[in-house]
Amino acid sequence: MQVTFLGTGTSMGVPIAGGYGRELMKGDPRDERYRCSAWVQHNNKSILIDVGPEFRLQSLRSGLTEVDLLLLTHQHTDHIGGLDDLRPFNYIQKSEIPVITTPECEKSIRRRFYYMFEPEKTPGSVDLSFQPQKESYNWFGLNIVPLPVYHGEMKVYGFRINDFSYITDVNYIPEETKEKIKGSKVMVLSGLRWDPKHPTHYTIPEAVEIADELGVDQTWLVHMSVYVNHSETNKQLPSHVQLAYDQLSITVD
Ligand SMILES: [Zn+2]
Repeated sequence: MQVTFLGTGTSMGVPIAGGYGRELMKGDPRDERYRCSAWVQHNNKSILIDVGPEFRLQSLRSGLTEVDLLLLTHQHTDHIGGLDDLRPFNYIQKSEIPVITTPECEKSIRRRFYYMFEPEKTPGSVDLSFQPQKESYNWFGLNIVPLPVYHGEMKVYGFRINDFSYITDVNYIPEETKEKIKGSKVMVLSGLRWDPKHPTHYTIPEAVEIADELGVDQTWLVHMSVYVNHSETNKQLPSHVQLAYDQLSITVD
């Protein structure tokens, strides 16, 4: 299984609109971050996790040409704002795109993107097929387990795909979800900034604590703010918890 980080930035991206924050970046391309998304490839199938506002640009630079399954963590715009750009994949694949997400996210998408759904469906708009809620799914020979976690008051999903667990936008993981994550070889977790604490995201020290508690071999942090410098931060982190960066590609056996 190959995992490519399509974006690793916080909700506003890095630098943010207007170019603010660029002065902090010191020329390292790893400090430029599109909104969070990941591309999982397995047996010539492509699974997309979240489809943010930069999805078109992310697909072009990474070479993503198919979306066979879409996993959505939650309904915030930085995670679903690129839904319209899935249209070419419907045309080319001549099929609807299956979606696994929370019931709340499905409801929000049906409201916000009303023109994609009956009876108001605009011809040529995206064809999505929301999958029924299940404890686990089997797609393309992969075991996919939704991981309910909390993003402030909001219940969102992370996803475990075989031994890879992806959890973004989180500041609390219930015990029963921790049990589902344990045994993963690789985990992705949000680490917004060093401090202060945030009401809806783990800080970097909190993410390190969770990584240690769960005993995952390697944890990659995402959803970093403009104040997190890639190389300086990684030097201060243990080797089993490091910042991911856009276009990083890893293999998970
Ligand atoms: Zn969010």
